[in-house]
Order: sequence, then structure tokens, then C-alpha cells
Amino acid sequence: MDQNTEFVIQRHIERTLENLKKNRMNGYYAVNQEDLMEILDTLCERKSTVSVGGSMTLFETGVINWLREEDFEFYDRYAEGLTKEDITEIYRKSFGANYYFTSTNAVTEDGELVNIDGTGNRVASMIYGPDKVIVIVGVNKLVKDEAAAWERLRNFAAPTNSVRLNRKTPCAVTGQCSNCNSPERICASYVTIKRQMNPDRIHVIIVDERLGY
Ligand code: SF4
Repeated sequence: MDQNTEFVIQRHIERTLENLKKNRMNGYYAVNQEDLMEILDTLCERKSTVSVGGSMTLFETGVINWLREEDFEFYDRYAEGLTKEDITEIYRKSFGANYYFTSTNAVTEDGELVNIDGTGNRVASMIYGPDKVIVIVGVNKLVKDEAAAWERLRNFAAPTNSVRLNRKTPCAVTGQCSNCNSPERICASYVTIKRQMNPDRIHVIIVDERLGY
């Protein structure tokens, strides 16, 4: 990335971090994935219970493997051989976890987290339950405001996830949302987290790389 682009992105990141703080969420900047792992190392107490929301970012950054290898009790929804019932049980147990790791679909410069969820377990755990929520997000998901976030979610993130999941939805063909009535629709809960009551609960780590959708 050239210096001019990097300069502008850094100003966006600074404003986002400031506004997360105003909204009683904690913001961190990681220059790369190595830096991210150092931040996680200091944030997360070992022997804690941990769970994750569905996220490509957590795989791309190696966080899923890290949770498996470190001294955590990991409620691992991706473990081999789980039945549908096992996964539902993990979703329920996640509400009582010490740490919940996830990404988010967009972070606004106003310091808000914007998401579209299908089953709803991810946004539910972000809103309530786990003691701390660790949100890992690439710079590609930073947007100006909530309107820009919904534009990104409807016309980029959700269609891309439809393609990834091989869903028979209009957006998997056209690349844009038509607010479909498809039985395979992946969009159900549209959630913006604007603020926290507990200022030590949500921790957002912005990684200066393209991650996830
Ligand atoms: S509502 Fe339907 S068309 Fe729109 S993004 Fe979701 S799955 Fe795709």
C-alpha cells in the first residue's frame, strides 16, 4: 500500500478507535496478525472458557487454532463429528463463556458494530451473555457510517457469504441483495451495537489487513 493511502486509512482507524471508546467499547490497533496475537495473549486469561461466532476472519488469522492449542476450555463448534444437536448445545453454552471471539460485518467510524445474522447465535452472544466479547476485524470492514455499513452488508458481505455457503439465493447470482423470500435466505437478524453498559465487555481489535468479508 502506498504512503498516501496508508495515511488516510490511519486517520479513519484513529477516529473509529476514539468513537468506540466514547461508546464504552475498547479499541485496539494491530499492524498485522503477529501483533494481533500479542494483543490476544495479554487480553485473555488462560484456563477460561471460550467460544466463537461463525467467522472466516477467525480462521484466516489462526485464532481458531490458537484457541485449540492454548490452555482454554474451548466450546469448539467446528470440532469434527459434531451433530446438529451438539452444535445447538454449544451455541447455548456460549452464553456462559468467559470470552466470545467473533468478527463483525462492519465497524462504523462512529464506533458502532453492524451485523446481519442468520441463526442469530452470533449477534445474541455479542449482545448478552459472555463476560467479554473479542471482536477481530480487518480494515476492509471499516465504513463511514451506518448507512454505508448496511450498503456493505447487503451488497457485498451477505452475497459473498451466500456464494461461500452455496445457497440458492438471488444474491448468489447477481451479487446484490433483493430482500429475497428464498427458503435458503441467510439474512434474518439485522443488528447494530451502538454502545455498551459495561465498558470492559467488548474489545474490538482492528487489524491492518484485509480479512473475511
Ligand atoms: S436477503 Fe436474500 S438476496 Fe438479500 S443478501 Fe440476504 S440472502 Fe441475499
